[in-house]
Amino acid sequence: MKAIRVHALGGPDVLTYEDIPDPTPKAGEALVKVEAAGVNFIDIYQRVGVYKLTLPLTLGLEGAGTVTAVGAGVTDVRVGDRVAWTSVPGGYAELCAVPADRLVKLPPGVTTRQGAAMMLQGLTAHYLTHSTFPLQQGQTCLVHAGAGGVGLLLTQIAKLRGARVITTVSTEEKAALSREAGADHVVLYTRQDFEAEVKQITAGKGVAVVYDSVGQDTFAKSLNCLAPRGMLVLFGQSSGVVPAVDPQVLSQKGSLFFTRPTLVHYIVTRDELQQRAADLFGWIGGGKLRLRTEFEFKLKDAAEAHKALAARKTTGKVLLIP
Ligand code: NDP
Repeated sequence: MKAIRVHALGGPDVLTYEDIPDPTPKAGEALVKVEAAGVNFIDIYQRVGVYKLTLPLTLGLEGAGTVTAVGAGVTDVRVGDRVAWTSVPGGYAELCAVPADRLVKLPPGVTTRQGAAMMLQGLTAHYLTHSTFPLQQGQTCLVHAGAGGVGLLLTQIAKLRGARVITTVSTEEKAALSREAGADHVVLYTRQDFEAEVKQITAGKGVAVVYDSVGQDTFAKSLNCLAPRGMLVLFGQSSGVVPAVDPQVLSQKGSLFFTRPTLVHYIVTRDELQQRAADLFGWIGGGKLRLRTEFEFKLKDAAEAHKALAARKTTGKVLLIP
């Protein structure tokens, strides 16, 4: 099969499109013919070595397709089922062997491309708004990179929970997309001081929670945007890694809470994975959650997809099609 492999850490050009042996499903695994693989910022961190992995590897932590074979003992899925998964390596390929208990079956109202597009970013937006900081009706949140893959979904789900949403984006075009997703206030953080804007929008009170995936460039001011006892949820570092935090700062700035969550710890059990996915399916099928899948690349062009994502040229989901 064809796959995108990484033999050495580095820029997008280390991604090589090559032939490797087809995987065989082991006991408990299903073999999936990949119809769409999701590209995520974490793939960039893995490629450059921010997150350390053993090389060589097939990149990709998300995909969807059809089951073509199952290993011993698999009862959750059958050959012919349309399925999606996340947090299992090897998605940038024509075939992927996935532990069957990590697969969710796609209902008729959800296309395979939507399945690939919703898993990693959709489940993330779900756990951030429902578990890390369960948003309540009327609370105000700040979402950075509001037109990104996670950002557009996080905004829509926060609105479904009745929250008021302030987002930050880099361009007017992204601002329009963020507003379409339901943002009540959009700040162009490339031109405006987002801390001052948030203070003005909240009449000096600050927000209950900041969902910050931008990291280095936003972190310090994100802390200043919080109301007393607010929570800073740092869930990424698209602009660079955040330096060590002095706990005393949390006290000085209002007895704040600080957490650095990761998706795998919020889909630990099969039940939890399925319940979160079922919510997303329901919203997508019911027209309450829109997935933006405008950025599609051929699998062999994975390097181009990485360049576009890193250069802030994409909005919503980026997909690779084998
Ligand atoms: P996005 O589509 O959100 O792309 C990243 C966005 O970040 C850009 O479009 C850009 O938006 C903004 N950004 C700000 N500064 C920079 C910079 N210097 N370089 C590049 N981008 C910048 O990506 P994803 O939706 O895939 O991921 C968003 C973040 O969430 C990532 O940091 C990712 O690691 C994290 N994440 C964390 C998870 C977790 O469980 N912890 C799970 C999923 C994602 P703009 O142009 O508007 O500034």
